[in-house]
Amino acid sequence: MIGVYLHIPFCKSKCGYCDFYSVASQTLMQPTIRAMLRELEGRKNYFDTFKKTSPELQRATLYVGGGTPSLLPPEVLNELAKKAMQVFGIAVPEEFTVELNPDDVTPDYLAQLRGMGVDRISIGVQSFFDDDLRRMNRRHSAGQAARSVQLAQQAGFGNISIDLIYGLPEMSTERWKSNLEASFSLGVQHLSAYALTVEHRTPFGVLQRKNRLPLPSDGEVAAQYALLCELSARSGFAHYEISSFARSGFTSKHNSAYWQQQPYVGIGPSAHSYSGLQRQHNPASNALYLKGMSAGSGCAEVETLSEADRYNEYIFTGLRTAWGVELGYLRQAFGEELVAHCLANAARHVAAQRLVQAGGRLTIPEHHWFISDSIIVDLIWA
Ligand code: SF4
Repeated sequence: MIGVYLHIPFCKSKCGYCDFYSVASQTLMQPTIRAMLRELEGRKNYFDTFKKTSPELQRATLYVGGGTPSLLPPEVLNELAKKAMQVFGIAVPEEFTVELNPDDVTPDYLAQLRGMGVDRISIGVQSFFDDDLRRMNRRHSAGQAARSVQLAQQAGFGNISIDLIYGLPEMSTERWKSNLEASFSLGVQHLSAYALTVEHRTPFGVLQRKNRLPLPSDGEVAAQYALLCELSARSGFAHYEISSFARSGFTSKHNSAYWQQQPYVGIGPSAHSYSGLQRQHNPASNALYLKGMSAGSGCAEVETLSEADRYNEYIFTGLRTAWGVELGYLRQAFGEELVAHCLANAARHVAAQRLVQAGGRLTIPEHHWFISDSIIVDLIWA
């Protein structure tokens, strides 16, 4: 599977916790979209070698994220998607996802997304409590969030994901339980639930440094994670990645391909691309992106990945998923020395049942995913 990601770096306002690259001013929107269309054209050969080596890589997913893609008029989204499909030779994507903010969702907008072939939408709900949303500087209300899901269902979308955040300031486990119950009662197919991470340069980071961010304790956040695992299972959702839960048949194909080292191309400011041997980083600045693209030669910084980089990335992403790390693949891709390193360092975690070695795989049991970093760090090749 190959992945095509389009990053729309604009929002109406910035949320207090958000560290994704986007700007609240829309003055550069038009030139940025034109530059993204040029970038797509310039990258038309990006997947050629992969397509020749594996028929599996004829299959493709398309994902429009941000930022706030739903700020774009549908015809602009359509132009970007059509261009991506044309340059990469995608007849019909295996999955076509667009991220939406609840306050942008209208029956007309949804109908136009359906018309252009979008078959999966991801709605940034974050919480079903208005005071949480105000504290996060979200633009929508809890009522709008629930209504946006219902409108999407009425428009015929049968693959709807919502995002939630736990560990929010002053969030009790009881409140988190209400958020989960509200989510499952809406009949969505997928849930992405993230533990709040306070990033230094965000408004939440500033508040934390001033001791004005009353976060729940580590124990309370761990209890919220445990509740998430319990209630999602009870509601028929499989927990397939540390933050991802899906009803049968509704795992995210696009994100799963990332976690399984499939190649992808990222278009737009701050987007990344991955080819197996290289990673490319577009500048996280609309001005620098436009400057680079106007020079005509592309603007990505290229990082050649060493064998250790690739091994570490495989361990890091694989051990946060239900399918874990495949020892046969490790051996074939990295050789005996790294397999021996992995197993030797895994041994004490296997003995303590924080890692399971079975069926040619290493996996972290779901209840230990919350502390997966402390296990993974021991398996990394320094
Ligand atoms: S809408 Fe999304 S991308 Fe924009 S600031 Fe909020 S969380 Fe970040």
